[in-house]
Amino acid sequence: MAYEVTFIPGDGTGPELAEATRRVLEATGVAFDWDVQQAGIDEYERSGNPFPSATLDSLKRTAVGIKGPTTTPIGSGFRSVNVLLRKELDLYACVRPCKAYAGVRTRFPETDIVIVRENTEDLYAGIEFERGTPENARLRELLAELGSVVREDSGISIRPISVFGTERIVEYAFDYTKRTGRRKVTAVHKANIMKFSDGLFLEVAREVAARHPEIEFEDRIVDNLCNQLVSRPEEYDVLVLPNLFGDIVSDLGAGMVGGLGFAGGANIGTHAAVFEATHGSAPKYKGLNKVNPTALMLSGVYMLEHLGEQDAAARMERAIAEVIRKGEKVTYDLKPHRDDPTAVGTAEFADAVIEEMGA
Ligand code: NAD
Repeated sequence: MAYEVTFIPGDGTGPELAEATRRVLEATGVAFDWDVQQAGIDEYERSGNPFPSATLDSLKRTAVGIKGPTTTPIGSGFRSVNVLLRKELDLYACVRPCKAYAGVRTRFPETDIVIVRENTEDLYAGIEFERGTPENARLRELLAELGSVVREDSGISIRPISVFGTERIVEYAFDYTKRTGRRKVTAVHKANIMKFSDGLFLEVAREVAARHPEIEFEDRIVDNLCNQLVSRPEEYDVLVLPNLFGDIVSDLGAGMVGGLGFAGGANIGTHAAVFEATHGSAPKYKGLNKVNPTALMLSGVYMLEHLGEQDAAARMERAIAEVIRKGEKVTYDLKPHRDDPTAVGTAEFADAVIEEMGA
């Protein structure tokens, strides 16, 4: 039976990357019934809405989507499709595996970690009080009453971290660790300073860990973790973090394995999961058949794993890794020099992965 999957090409270089990924996914032999839906700036220009309800309805129905990047213009007043998606579908876990593949230039070739980031709380909850507003003044008055004086010329962002949100993300991290045969979960926090937000995160993480004694558990203060990640990356496995630290450490992880071009990801919710690359729409390369599809293809691998197609996922990942290792039929960013004339395009990279899978 074919898997019905919502397929969102996105904009900028998104459609080229999505098409390359679709072809490779189909070449695994797994059958898909793609429900093609639109989102992004092209859709905004066409219909005035960057995220039509048909796209959301499709995701609610299929519960699985793969998405090319979408542009969020600065200062246009249109909200990020990705933020809307996360909110509407309560995609509470952002999962970003960071693995260094042979053939990629990196100083951290031993890296093989998975970052599990809480996606709904923390400073991203959007609870903000602008400097000079009556709401800001009221909040400062209340805080002063409660014994905390905040300077008058302050902007204020609130950082909620709940037992519910923490339990859900840490349980997800343990479940993921078990399912994927990994060995250890590290909870990352700043509980020494933010005792009631990160302190809660750590306390709940310890409680959840006690329910999974077969998986090793430890915790690290976030600054120490950053130091240790770049000194001894091989010591880390699955990391679980609140939203802001998760955001920052995800980019650190991507940098350690060669850059955003290799960072695939998944946004997981209770009722739906959306798979997409970490990088953006790289609009300056739109229509040039130039950019590297690895990150979206790896997101496709994670989608296969999510669907329970472990064998197809392993074959697809091996083929991508082999094409990168051989370094012949790869895009410009994987060549020693960016103007290397032997670089291939997005579509030809996909052809090489398909050929490798058949080999
Ligand atoms: P970007 O990731 O699109 O591009 C930055 C640079 O990275 C590019 O100019 C290019 O040199 C390189 N690059 C990115 N992806 C590449 C690839 N696959 N292969 C080779 N090189 C690649 O970041 P940006 O320019 O900051 O953002 C462009 C737009 O994308 C913005 O509107 C932003 O809001 C949006 N964005 C979307 C998502 C998403 O849809 N998930 C994520 C991040 C940014």
